[in-house]
Amino acid sequence: MTDHTLLTDNFQRPIEYLRLSVTDRCDLRCAYCMPEDFKGYEEPENWLTFDEIERLIGAFARLGVKRLRLTGGEPLLRRDLTGLAGRLSALPGIEDLSLSTNATHLDKHAQALRDNGISRINVSLDSLQRERIEKITGRDCLHKILAGLMAGKEAGLAPIKINMVALQGVNDDEIDSMVAFCIEHGFILRFIEAMPVGSTGREAQFLDLQPVKQRLQERFGLLEGVIPGGGPARYLKSADGKFSVGFITPISQHFCETCNRVRLAVDGTLYTCLGQDEKFEFRPLLRGGISDQGLEDAIRLAISLKPERHEFREEPRKIIRFMSSTGG
Ligand code: SAM
Ligand code: SF4
Repeated sequence: MTDHTLLTDNFQRPIEYLRLSVTDRCDLRCAYCMPEDFKGYEEPENWLTFDEIERLIGAFARLGVKRLRLTGGEPLLRRDLTGLAGRLSALPGIEDLSLSTNATHLDKHAQALRDNGISRINVSLDSLQRERIEKITGRDCLHKILAGLMAGKEAGLAPIKINMVALQGVNDDEIDSMVAFCIEHGFILRFIEAMPVGSTGREAQFLDLQPVKQRLQERFGLLEGVIPGGGPARYLKSADGKFSVGFITPISQHFCETCNRVRLAVDGTLYTCLGQDEKFEFRPLLRGGISDQGLEDAIRLAISLKPERHEFREEPRKIIRFMSSTGG
């Protein structure tokens, strides 16, 4: 019988959440994430296959990982993502399967994803203005994102969280209109501080969210609150509980002491912290015929590498990999 309390890192943090990057490719080029001329994609022969992913996630689940998020790059670019979702949602121990997407292809897949065990989604949306979205993402895609969002809502994916990277002088004048849009559609809004991940992240127009939080709290009469699956976000709620807005503030107020997650890249590299380089390679083990017990031992070893905290403030130049490669 597996001891489900075993997956704890060296700082007594239980690890029960894994973000699985199913591809490092993306159809967008968000300025803070991926360079326009990016050429460093992983070779397809190095992508974990669906069988390898299922086996590895099954081992994590036996060790207590309950929540799984599919991400990327843009996860909907991986062929038959719904098939993979179906296989992963059926794994014993996986209680919550979610997806982070830019939604440009969501309209075609929303219902099938829901039918295959994806319960909820996070969608990146930094602006409601067509030209601005084109400027931020490098593509004229607002109409596709909105179509995807509405298809997700229609398919019953819930909650739908909107992730907005708040950028000084780029979209900070849209904070109130984004609040209004999310209230109208019943979406949970989350503002994110840009992280110095890769040259793109470092060059982003960082905006400190603490004053924004204070202003919104006063303007809309919001109260402190928590929501299930909230992760690192700190939430404010309206008095009637109908609207929530979250703040992900890795720079102005970090949340490392409660970090419960690790990230598996498409090539089978486990990154134990977004802001550090400690990692563990699972692909050679999976392709070298490791036993199930050996795999579980390797997972425990990998988790023991998880550092105490990121150093985005102290060492903003440290992380050279792009968010799209790690699986943000
Ligand atoms: N393509 C999908 C999407 O955009 O939702 C999933 C992958 S994307 C890397 C996941 C999240 O990372 C998005 O919400 C995006 O805004 C965020 N992100 C990317 N680069 C970032 C950065 N430098 N700082 C903060 N958040 C970033
Ligand atoms: Fe692509 Fe998501 Fe990165 Fe934007 S944030 S470039 S949509 S991976």
